Amino acid sequence: MTQQTAQFINVGERTNVTGSAKFKKLILNDQYDEALSVARQQVENGAQIIDINMDEGLLDAEAAMQTFLQLIAAEPDIARVPIMIDSSKWTVIEAGLKCVTGKSIVNSISLKEGEEAFIQHAKLCLRYGAAVVVMAFDEEGQADTVERKVDICARAYDVLVNTVGFPAEDIIFDPNIFAVATGIAEHNRYGLDFIEATREIKARCPQAKISGGVSNVSFSFRGNNPVREAMHSVFLYHAIKAGMDMGIVNAGQLTIYEDIPNDLRERVEDVVLARREDATDRLLEIAEKYRGEGGAQKKVPDLKWRDAPVEKRLAHALVHGITDFVIDDTEDARQSAEKPIQVIEGPLMDGMNIVGDLFGSGKMFLPQVVKSARVMKQSVAHLIPFIEEEKQGGESQAKGKIVMATVKGDVHDIGKNIVGVVLQCNNFEVIDLGVMVPAQKILDVAEEEGADIIGLSGLITPSLDEMVFVSEEMQRRDFKCPLLIGGATTSKVHTALRIEPKYDHATVHVLDASRAVGVASNLLSDEGADEFIDQVRNDYDQIRAKRDGGKAIVLAPYEEAAANGAALDWNGYQPPQPKTIGVTVIEDYPLGKLVDRIDWTPFFQTWELAGQYPAILEDDVVGESARGLKADADAMLTQIVDEKWLTAKAAYGFWPASARGDDLVVWADESRSKELAVLPMLRQQMQRRAGRANMSLADFVAPEESGVADYIGGFAVTTGHGIEEHIARFKAAHDDYNDILLKALSDRLAEAFAEKLHEDVRKTHWGYAASEELSNEALIKEKYQGIRPAPGYPACPDHSLKPILFDLLGATKAAGIELTESFAMTPTAAVSGLYFSHPDSRYFGVGKIGPDQVESYAARRDVDLATATRWLRPNLGYDA
Ligand code: SAH
Repeated sequence: MTQQTAQFINVGERTNVTGSAKFKKLILNDQYDEALSVARQQVENGAQIIDINMDEGLLDAEAAMQTFLQLIAAEPDIARVPIMIDSSKWTVIEAGLKCVTGKSIVNSISLKEGEEAFIQHAKLCLRYGAAVVVMAFDEEGQADTVERKVDICARAYDVLVNTVGFPAEDIIFDPNIFAVATGIAEHNRYGLDFIEATREIKARCPQAKISGGVSNVSFSFRGNNPVREAMHSVFLYHAIKAGMDMGIVNAGQLTIYEDIPNDLRERVEDVVLARREDATDRLLEIAEKYRGEGGAQKKVPDLKWRDAPVEKRLAHALVHGITDFVIDDTEDARQSAEKPIQVIEGPLMDGMNIVGDLFGSGKMFLPQVVKSARVMKQSVAHLIPFIEEEKQGGESQAKGKIVMATVKGDVHDIGKNIVGVVLQCNNFEVIDLGVMVPAQKILDVAEEEGADIIGLSGLITPSLDEMVFVSEEMQRRDFKCPLLIGGATTSKVHTALRIEPKYDHATVHVLDASRAVGVASNLLSDEGADEFIDQVRNDYDQIRAKRDGGKAIVLAPYEEAAANGAALDWNGYQPPQPKTIGVTVIEDYPLGKLVDRIDWTPFFQTWELAGQYPAILEDDVVGESARGLKADADAMLTQIVDEKWLTAKAAYGFWPASARGDDLVVWADESRSKELAVLPMLRQQMQRRAGRANMSLADFVAPEESGVADYIGGFAVTTGHGIEEHIARFKAAHDDYNDILLKALSDRLAEAFAEKLHEDVRKTHWGYAASEELSNEALIKEKYQGIRPAPGYPACPDHSLKPILFDLLGATKAAGIELTESFAMTPTAAVSGLYFSHPDSRYFGVGKIGPDQVESYAARRDVDLATATRWLRPNLGYDA
């Protein structure tokens, strides 16, 4: 510690269920003894206060707080430091206050709910002799500028001291530390604002103290601990000089200010003190250089494992996913084996068994498993020619043969590919027929190959019907093998209700790749298969019984629902006018502009890593895996952009439009005399309580009879052009990992493109929100005005609207996006939808609809009832 930090009080934060997954687990498992030792370690490591938080949905937070505090009270070596009782719920704080014997601090109170509640809470703290942390928060929200921070704190101080009679020395202000260097100009001053506010508040509020959560400031450098530590140290150096008294900080991990290398310190200081415009860029320039240094992050490849015998080396390479030496090692192993097949049956299988066990027990995650599979495939590929030469037939002792396909009309295959890889890792033979595979082909191949299991995958709702068809065909052709159902659009309920009854043999819905192995193994096990199949049957019987016995869905008559729409006030409303009418084509949007707009959370979901980005990178369980994956993703993204692997194309347009009943009429031009297209919309038909509308997207466009000149927009974007050549390259190298990674990134870029284009539309092309400035996070949370509903999503669930939209946009010609017979888009990395500008427009779900609306829809779409019924099947609230 440097001198000025000597009086600085640090608050231990590891006894916080929201901040520490380990602590949370201990508390949830009732392991209070071990939880106590976390508290003890904090004190031993120099925490002068410990913050305790039990805010977790699965916990009775009040009881947990009381139990833990009572235990602490009996531990003098812990209880010698003050306890900070941390909760967003007042009842929990009160419960805590009752248990603490020594000095306590309440974290926190604020003016968020107005003065009355603030005073009441402060009085209670006073009664218990507790100090309080006061957040710089008022009725309008969090304070983000110096002025707001100072004003709110001064006001709180005044109320506390003069109205409540609170001792000034027991007031601790937290003027909010926010992340800097986020790439958003408005955030640049956050560090400096805190420091300046601290100085001011100390001057205006005698004896009050200043605190804050220090690690927030470096949030955008998650994963780079050396840079983060330098930022904390620099930040504290200046904040403490300005009067900061205490903070939540990991004392053991603080670098000494003077010890920070000069160039790093200078650039960090530029960022923290907002000393130059390009501070963030300049810090980023050198951040990578420091990533590996100092912290536990450093990974010098440890090559000791190369000294082990070849079998061990192969196992190690498999478990760690290292391909560097695999061909040489495989060749070594082959030469010392009697027959090449023995290499597969021996060391490779042994290694993969370890991988399977680790994955099965949650110690290894999908990205690593897929990397392991890459090692295995490359090794096997080296062996195949030798095996064939020896005419050993290559008949391995696979656990079973599985034929997999994405059904006709659908093009999604990331999930299916992942399942395939995981099954192969577990010694199943997988025959993957790819995407858009007709039922006949699937069943023919299954017959020829003597498949033990058939697996079907699908992403979009029309695929559900196709799966039903495949199961009917299996029944008709007298198949006996189990049928697996998976993919984003599928569900256990749908499988139970509509697929399983069609086929006399086992039909099982598989939730995700990590379950696929268990299900396949059970289905093919000699002893357990019957029992497993019975269990599934029972389960599905119950689902069906519940459905039958359950209350019938009560729907309002369509006419009544239509009369109860979201009544927007068009009187005097002036819809914003787009800059251009008609279609604009984007031939080649710069990919570099999309990277910042990526929403990473779904990327991790694709790899079955659960958690929100960026917190997932620090997760106690999957954090390491997530960081590894993100590093690979970043490296590939750089290549995608620099070497232009993909081309981003789009078509978007705006047209005069009106609502005519539940139809959206799209006009050719401002004369509003020639109809370009009609987009029939669906309407919620559930019984509504008074005051709640039955919504339709048609409600968000001015009705024809209002005379208000409104508009609508549409778009189709893709970042999938160019991908095939790279996928082919990865396939040839038996590299599923990079194959899946590229597809996942290309999907992310398509979503990012939709996000970016929508932003450009709001700010420029339609231009109704020219001064909008939102962070990527805020964009992901849809904090902007207007919506971009996509066909196939809950507000307009009918995928068959896409052809109408595509015709309007000329999307197939302009952006090279085609639609399959089930209205899936190819390239798969594509997004399309409509734009609505009205400030009250919002997303909702149409939900179940009745036969009266389906009839109306059929008429409005000019199709027969059977077709409309098929399109709308997932939304039917009755048996068709
Ligand atoms: N950030 C996410 C964005 C995709 S999901 C990602 O990168 O994956 C959000 C989009 O789904 C919305 O922009 C809209 O196009 C669509 N959407 C969500 N809810 C919807 C609803 N109820 N009706 C219609 N479209 C919806």
